[in-house]
Amino acid sequence: MATAAYLSKHFKRITIIESDDVLNDTFIESTPAELLNYHCRLESPTSIGRSGVSQIYQIHILAGEGFKILKELFPELADKLITQYGVRGNFIVDCTGRNTSSLRWLKENLNLIVPTVQLHFGCGYVTFIGERFKTEDPLLDAIHLFGNNCNSPDKNTGRYINPIRTIKTDDENSLGVLSIIGVVGVNSEYPPNDSYEDLLEWAKEHTPSECYTILKSTKPCNSLIPYRRIFDDRKYVELLGEKWPQSYILLGDAMCKFNSRYAQGMTHAFRHARELGKIFDEHCHKLEDISYIFNRPASTISEEYWIGSTTNDWKTPRLKLITTDKTGEIRTYQRGGDSNPTKDLEPRVPLMIKFLQCYNYWFIRCAAKSGSLSTDLVHVVSQDCNPLILMKPTTLLKVCYMALIHQFRLSNN
Ligand SMILES: Cc1cc2nc3c(=O)[nH]c(=O)nc-3n(C[C@H](O)[C@H](O)[C@H](O)COP(=O)(O)OP(=O)(O)OC[C@H]3O[C@@H](n4cnc5c(N)ncnc54)[C@H](O)[C@@H]3O)c2cc1C
Repeated sequence: MATAAYLSKHFKRITIIESDDVLNDTFIESTPAELLNYHCRLESPTSIGRSGVSQIYQIHILAGEGFKILKELFPELADKLITQYGVRGNFIVDCTGRNTSSLRWLKENLNLIVPTVQLHFGCGYVTFIGERFKTEDPLLDAIHLFGNNCNSPDKNTGRYINPIRTIKTDDENSLGVLSIIGVVGVNSEYPPNDSYEDLLEWAKEHTPSECYTILKSTKPCNSLIPYRRIFDDRKYVELLGEKWPQSYILLGDAMCKFNSRYAQGMTHAFRHARELGKIFDEHCHKLEDISYIFNRPASTISEEYWIGSTTNDWKTPRLKLITTDKTGEIRTYQRGGDSNPTKDLEPRVPLMIKFLQCYNYWFIRCAAKSGSLSTDLVHVVSQDCNPLILMKPTTLLKVCYMALIHQFRLSNN
């Protein structure tokens, strides 16, 4: 929809081909509050006809920059975006998300192989909506927003609590808040979803005690919704240059999908859409050249997110890496010693990723003591500026200095 909004100035007609029935009455006629009601009690995405977005019930946070783009495109976030069109087209945007079949289509129909890299880091979410009740600790009851990421290899689980609405209730023990709660495990350490009791048992072992206490005093309102189909998948479309088909592009998750830990996927797709809009706004390109032109800046955007979100995934103890090169040769690498029955080669961590893993570690320690560095970090997290600001020369010096001093002290002890 964001892509269509950017391109609407340049085409008389934009056709969105959507496999889900997004024009169904529930969607069109419900108020936002009614949609939230559905969200709070439904069991699966198919219930409101959104099986095409299987991640829909997982916890989603829209970063600041993504929200800015959305507001710029739809100042009133109006309802009047939808009109009925017939199907025809001379520029095709594949934004069918994480399960795109474009690669298969390109190979079968144009004999075109797109080089790819996939990192399978055994990630699984369980998400549900729950009503919070008082614990015996008023300080805990005052915490409504809670987030704690995985940090492999030592900490392979994370959890998030986000309030989504207040409710009226006569129960004086209720906090009067419904929250969306997600727990996540990587390295195939999946949280269970068979029963809330089992999830609590798991949480007792895998989450900090304050989070366990909150979960223990939460009543789930819907079922526990698992999601285990997460892996990083980068399609290097830019490497195909002018071999790439004319007037056809991949956008958003269809081009690159990655760990959702930093809440980046929607903003990544919006930025692709904005980039495409900019290229059309320049009014100097032939329609048939736009796909190659777009692939370059779009890949730069994807690379920024890719590096940011995969740096940590490379640390997963049982990481599986699958690469496909330009000739179509597929190689599988697997880390994990005895648990690697196929005896695939161990994946080799790129030097730049090793550097970033080390840099991030020391940057966080520096930022904890510096207002300006933590402000820079907040800007990067809300994605309204380039992550490279975390490496400007003065910062780089501070971080390296801290790492070296630490190293020096260790070697003196
Ligand atoms: C567990 C989880 C948590 C996440 N949390 C966050 C978060 O907090 N913040 C964030 O920014 N991102 C998050 N993401 C990522 C985010 O969901 C995606 O990056 C984002 O939705 C991608 O947008 P898209 O438009 O590329 O694809 P999608 O939103 O997936 O849209 C694809 C559309 O294409 C349709 N479609 C699919 N196949 C076809 C077909 N063959 N023909 C026609 N239509 C088709 C689908 O029905 C759907 O409407 C999360 C992802 C997961 C899995």
